[in-house]
This record gives sequence, C-alpha cells and structure tokens, in this order.
Amino acid sequence: MKLLSAIVPCYNEEENVPYFYEEFMKNEDFFKKHELEFELWYIDDGSRDKTAEEVKKLILKDKRVHLLSFSRNFGKEAALYAGLEKASGDYVACMDADLQDPPSLLPEMFGYLWQGYDTVATRRVTRRGEPLIRSFFARMFYKLMNKISETEIVDGARDFRLMTRQVVDALLSMKEYNRFTKGIFGWVGYRTKWIEFENVERKKGETKWSFWKLFMYSLEGITSFSTAPLAFAAFMGVLFCLFSFGLIIFTIVRKALFGDPTSGWPSLVCIISLVSGVQLFCLGIVGEYLAKTYMEVKNRPIYLVKEEI
Ligand code: UDP
Ligand code: MG
Repeated sequence: MKLLSAIVPCYNEEENVPYFYEEFMKNEDFFKKHELEFELWYIDDGSRDKTAEEVKKLILKDKRVHLLSFSRNFGKEAALYAGLEKASGDYVACMDADLQDPPSLLPEMFGYLWQGYDTVATRRVTRRGEPLIRSFFARMFYKLMNKISETEIVDGARDFRLMTRQVVDALLSMKEYNRFTKGIFGWVGYRTKWIEFENVERKKGETKWSFWKLFMYSLEGITSFSTAPLAFAAFMGVLFCLFSFGLIIFTIVRKALFGDPTSGWPSLVCIISLVSGVQLFCLGIVGEYLAKTYMEVKNRPIYLVKEEI
C-alpha cells in the first residue's frame, strides 16, 4: 500500500471545506483500485471564520482527515510548507480549498507519475472569470520574470501539483523565509509533466488576493528569483556617469569658446532632479534586497502552530 498526502491550505474557507472533502472522495474507487491510502491535511492559515470547526466535523467522520491550525495568518506559502512538513505520504498533492484545482484530475496525474515522471504540474490555459486588468498584469509579470530569471516560471501555473517523496524532500530542504512557491517548484527541477485545464471559478466565498497583494507577491517573486534589478541599478549608474561626463566637457568647451553667459539654470534643475530621481530609485532596489536579506538572517520560523489534530 502506498500513501498519498493531500495538502489543502485554507484561509476563511468554512463553506468550501466540506465541498472539497466531497469532491476529493469521488476518487475513492480509483484509490482502492490502485491500492492507495490517503491522508488529507487541512492547513488552517489563521482563519477567522469556522474553518477549523468544519474540519473537526470531518475528522469525527473520517480518521484520515487532519487539521493543522496556525496561530495567525502566515500566508499560503507558509501553509504549503507546513503541509509538506506534515505529509508522510509516498506521494503528495497540493490543492486549493475552493476547488479551483479540481481533485478529479488526480487519476490522470497519477497516470503520468507512474509513467516515470517525478512531478505532475498543472497550468490553466484560460483566465476566464478573472478581471481583465488582473490577467493583463499577470501576463506581463510572467514575461518579465522569464526574461530576468534563470528559473523558469510558467504562465498560468498553479500550485496544484502531485509529486513523489523525493521532490517533497527537495522542497523541504529550501528553508527560506521569503517563499515564492512557484519559483521554488521550478528551481528544484526534476522530470515535470505539465497538464493543462480550463480555469474553474471558485466554488464559494471570494479570492483572498487583492490587486495590491498580488502586486507585492510579484515583487516577492522577482526579488526572490532574480538579481537583475540590482544589475539594472548599476547599469543606470554607469549610463548617468557617461552622460554627465559628456555634459562636463560640453560646459568647459562652451565656456572657453563663448565666455560665461549665466543661462543654463533650467537645464541644471532638470538634470539634478532627474539624477536624484534615478538615485532614489536605485537605492530603493538595493533596499528591497536588503530587506529580504534582513528577514532571512533573522531566521524566523515560517509558521507557528496553535493546534494539530
Ligand atoms: N490561502 C491561504 N492563506 C492566505 C490566502 C489564501 O491559505 O493568506 C488559501 C486559500 O484558502 C485557498 C488558496 O490559498 O485555498 C488559494 O487562495 P485564493 O483562492 O484566494 O486565490 P486565487 O485562486 O484567487 O488565486
Ligand atoms: Mg482560488
């Protein structure tokens, strides 16, 4: 008998918890047929609604369900990490509670795993039902990211994955505090099979990601997996040095040829404000990385547990 661990991060998902269980259990025949046992880990990421209570109801019914509650909201990345730590299965699947990662895909995913792949990843080919502006910025982000980072980050990739123990151990060996899971999956590598599906809208409740949160998340992705912005800062510095060097020569020559008319004040103001703008921008980039380093050096735990059942 092999064991499958399913990890479900939940933040205020009281309505979806029972639905998810129901959907997941539709695979029971498949599990039986292939001699698979399973454990289902709901990671309650500091929910303020009745998520934990709903999970406890399920636990009373089914011993294979488990609950890990955080002391506060640590974010989905932390919840995934905690789930990976708790999972003891030979295979591990990460999936959202809102059924946007359809559990009905699991049999197909297992098919690929048994063909010799180490991990089966999913991406959605459409973004139906999502605000247009959000899709637009998401596309831009993936384009930029893949230009400036060596780690491949697939457009539309979801965190919905099925993987072998070996891959899970690799993921767990990355103990960084600033976790950008999509990048971490790409970074560890292994033979990956991508399967595609149409976007499914969330079952109940609403998304936990505001535009602002997504924007900050994209910065997280860039600074965690690329140092290109630092190089960009240096590049701008060199560019402006060359520019001012030319300007100095021009000023000296003009002075020698035409004397010193007191004109040139407006251009001076423009140059000063432009250059100080660029300086501040570059300082900001350096600051971003410094902040990241600061957080890593502190070596704080990625999450804190309140309750485990
Ligand atoms: N989630 C979480 N912690 C958070 C935000 C989200 O555990 O701080 C969970 C959430 O409960 C869901 C999954 O992560 O199971 C994906 O969140 P959501 O559906 O809001 O994101 P979207 O699908 O809109 O990108
Ligand atoms: Mg969702």
